[in-house]
Amino acid sequence: MGVKSQALFKEAQRYLPGGVNSPVRAFQAVGGDPLFISKGTGSRIYDADGASYIDYVCSWGPLILGHAHPQVVAALKEAAARGTSFGAPTALEVELARALVEVVPSLELVRLVNSGTEAAASALRLARAYTGRPLIVKFVGCYHGHVDSLLIKAGSGVGTLGLPDSPGVTLGTARDTLVLPYNDLVPVQEAFAARGGEIAAVILEPVAANMGVVLPRPGFLEGLRELTAHAGALLIFDEVITGFRLGLGGAQAYYGVIPDLTILGKIIGGGLPVGAYGGRREIMELVAPLGPVYQAGTLSGNPLASAAGLATLDVLRQPGIYNRLAERGKELREGLARLAAAVGVPVKVQGLASLFTVFFTEEEVWDYELAASCDRQRFRQFFHLLLQNGVYFPPSPLEACFLSLAHTAEDLAATLAAAEKAFAALRTE
Ligand SMILES: *Cc1c(COP(=O)(O)O)cnc(C)c1O
Repeated sequence: MGVKSQALFKEAQRYLPGGVNSPVRAFQAVGGDPLFISKGTGSRIYDADGASYIDYVCSWGPLILGHAHPQVVAALKEAAARGTSFGAPTALEVELARALVEVVPSLELVRLVNSGTEAAASALRLARAYTGRPLIVKFVGCYHGHVDSLLIKAGSGVGTLGLPDSPGVTLGTARDTLVLPYNDLVPVQEAFAARGGEIAAVILEPVAANMGVVLPRPGFLEGLRELTAHAGALLIFDEVITGFRLGLGGAQAYYGVIPDLTILGKIIGGGLPVGAYGGRREIMELVAPLGPVYQAGTLSGNPLASAAGLATLDVLRQPGIYNRLAERGKELREGLARLAAAVGVPVKVQGLASLFTVFFTEEEVWDYELAASCDRQRFRQFFHLLLQNGVYFPPSPLEACFLSLAHTAEDLAATLAAAEKAFAALRTE
């Protein structure tokens, strides 16, 4: 790491807890000090010392067009010159809402907020209000932001009530959340059999991307749809990552399973702070001012975030974009798997569309337990070997890599060349 990043990190630690504003940025999972980024263009980021890297974090998902896309920058400049916030309705936020409702199958009404966390918290409140029930079912390894009632880990037995997964979350809050293993319908059936009348909603990432990329087993999403509908509970898809990533209609269009409520974020803000939740009209009509469920925000529907989001969606609506992204994703996943196999390093490269994770394991990963049992030491070494060769992967083994439209054939070739060196070095360890 360069001297300027080092100096900045030292300074940062004087004022910010751990020197960062979001924990994964501190590199604790991979060791070493974080790079401080000074700029990004297209597929590349530049650190404070001037070194450049092909970026597979892409701000953890929002930058599907790459860094500083000209259309997004132009839209932001224009919007900023007109004023940054009014706390009154604007045309831009209506345009963004219309764009979302037009292509995301479950959305009839949508509310814009400022983060995925805020959207998740609001959707849970709404689900509880609509059903008049207290319990939420979530899955181990799915992340929905740092909402108290979702920072819960599994209790002692499957189907028992959850325990706080962070100090500061009360037992009372934990008692309202059931935590079950991903990709297994049996415990969900058992939970509904035991407490169906109390369950307000089941929330999940329809493709899990916060324990590394873990796909839903065939029938898992359909099974949840049936169980929730039968019990009068809501199905909530957290599409903060998958929304506008798997296609314009997100995972719900991709898999043909339509949830009652959908949570969005990341891409729809084009790199600015944003979130959204929405769903069937009859449910969303409970939200204030139409209904009694309170939820508000000083900067919600912000003109800059709306402008950046709209500019991003404009590009994504061009024909052929998602095919191009998916082809590049496939090429990279297959290339990485082939290179690792060639030198006998056990990996499973999982993903779809422009998402992937390199798991250091022999087995396919279907849930958090399998994800967490992968070889973390190997991942650390792999991460640093890539970094030395100009490739910036997420600094944690349990995260997704994100490809953007700005990643070129040359970028992929350079990435595979760096990975080949890294796998060779791992083999000789
Ligand atoms: C990032 C993320 C969130 C939280 O969004 P923030 O904007 O960081 O609050 C929620 N759900 C999923 C699936 C995410 O990946």
